[in-house]
Amino acid sequence: MQPWQDPEVGKTKKKWEKFAEEHLAGDYLARDKAHEFSRERWEKCAEFGALSMAMPEEYGGQGLPLRYTVAAYEGLAHVCADTGFLFGLNSQVFGVQMPLLISGSEELKKEYLPKMCAGKLIGTLGFTEEGAGSDVFHVETRADKTDGGFVVNGKKTFVTNSPDADYTLLFAKTDNNKNAFDFTCFWVPLEGKGVRKGKAFDKASLRTVGFGEQIFEDCFVPDDHVLGGVGRGLNVLQEAVGWERGLLLAHCLGAMERVNDQSIKRANERMQFGKPLAKNQQLSSRIAEAVNNHRIGRTYVYDLAARLDEVGNASRILSECCGAKLFVTDAYVQQMLDATQLWGARGVLNDWSIQQDTRDALSSKIWAGSSETLRNTIAKQAGLKA
Ligand SMILES: Cc1cc2nc3c(=O)[nH]c(=O)nc-3n(C[C@H](O)[C@H](O)[C@H](O)COP(=O)(O)OP(=O)(O)OC[C@H]3O[C@@H](n4cnc5c(N)ncnc54)[C@H](O)[C@@H]3O)c2cc1C
Repeated sequence: MQPWQDPEVGKTKKKWEKFAEEHLAGDYLARDKAHEFSRERWEKCAEFGALSMAMPEEYGGQGLPLRYTVAAYEGLAHVCADTGFLFGLNSQVFGVQMPLLISGSEELKKEYLPKMCAGKLIGTLGFTEEGAGSDVFHVETRADKTDGGFVVNGKKTFVTNSPDADYTLLFAKTDNNKNAFDFTCFWVPLEGKGVRKGKAFDKASLRTVGFGEQIFEDCFVPDDHVLGGVGRGLNVLQEAVGWERGLLLAHCLGAMERVNDQSIKRANERMQFGKPLAKNQQLSSRIAEAVNNHRIGRTYVYDLAARLDEVGNASRILSECCGAKLFVTDAYVQQMLDATQLWGARGVLNDWSIQQDTRDALSSKIWAGSSETLRNTIAKQAGLKA
């Protein structure tokens, strides 16, 4: 039996589908148009457990195996087309809570994880800079040692949830740029002396989650807000992106299933040349491909969830995490492009959802590492001397 065929997984998915129907319905296209993020919805999802399933009970979580979180986000996205919002929620679980759980001190975990699980505090992962996108070693943000802590100067950009967030995992160089690998991760409040949020970007994809800059000017961060040790930031980053690459795919799978359902119905009902579109093999074979890719993607992601429960660290199976993201996001984007074609003019109308799903899918091949970066990692770990 595949992990996703486990009856408990099915029940969990259904439970979250019902929750989405009751609480996340409404006019998501209007929210998309208005660039609207809802903290109220965030808290409602947290109350129902969206941010706590994968966290241990001692930090406000439910201590459930990872497949439950995957099933929940699959179910949510199967019913709710507000992929931006779901991406924002899910990225806090895997990109912020998980690295804090693995590398944070007991004090930080006790203080902040319960608040994030309860939806009362929003955290971000701030790594990218103007000059450091795929090339993570070119971070210019600096943290200089001072009495009792560090003074941080620099600017992060393209950070998910930033405009609405309270804290961030911040990555900065701590060795005067002597060694490209030597940076440190800090847990930093986004309000207070020396910190401000810069621009909030108007993006075409995932519009219902904020996306912005974070600016640090002589910002003091105490020693006890370092994660994983001074100079060990690369480990924390690899851990964070590993979890994102492996499991931040559940909402993509849910969206793929939802659009497959819609496209199958459409192909069966839409008559052209006196027969349903489904009778046209050029179209039906694309849908068959999408259904098959969705099935393979689910198997890959649930298998990875079981492996991650076993090993506990995403950085130890980074190549597999990259592989899952590469496969699922390639299939996701191709499926949405094919769906646009199947829906004809309606595929590009702003008041139909296909265009929004297609726009949302596009950025999946960029966030948490572009497809090219993932291929580089897989090639390197396979032994290629790139
Ligand atoms: C929706 C979304 C959410 C994001 N959320 C966050 C977040 O929360 N926190 C955060 O810190 N960042 C975040 N990012 C930023 C993201 O991590 C970067 O966009 C990504 O790492 C790529 O960097 P870049 O955009 O600067 O592209 P570049 O690095 O400029 O790359 C441009 C293109 O060149 C390719 N390329 C670059 N180098 C190579 C190479 N060596 N070999 C082959 N191809 C190469 C890339 O694959 C890409 O296609 C987010 C981005 C998006 C789109």
